Amino acid sequence: MLLRLLILTLVFYLLLLGLRRLLRGRRPARQADGSLRMVRCSRCGVHVPEHEAVRRGEAWYCSREHARQG
Ligand SMILES: [Zn+2]
Repeated sequence: MLLRLLILTLVFYLLLLGLRRLLRGRRPARQADGSLRMVRCSRCGVHVPEHEAVRRGEAWYCSREHARQG
């Protein structure tokens, strides 16, 4: 009975680990320290996560609106 409980706990733990790895794979790229890469809007200077920023050439913008205005 106790052994079965142990096995169940182990299986549950492994499932949780696998699920966590799956979720991590879907997240945007992160730096080594775990923080999101931030870029600076060339128009207003606001810092936004890279995956939310708009890129135009070499410059980054916080929104499509600012990318259009340059
Ligand atoms: Zn901006």
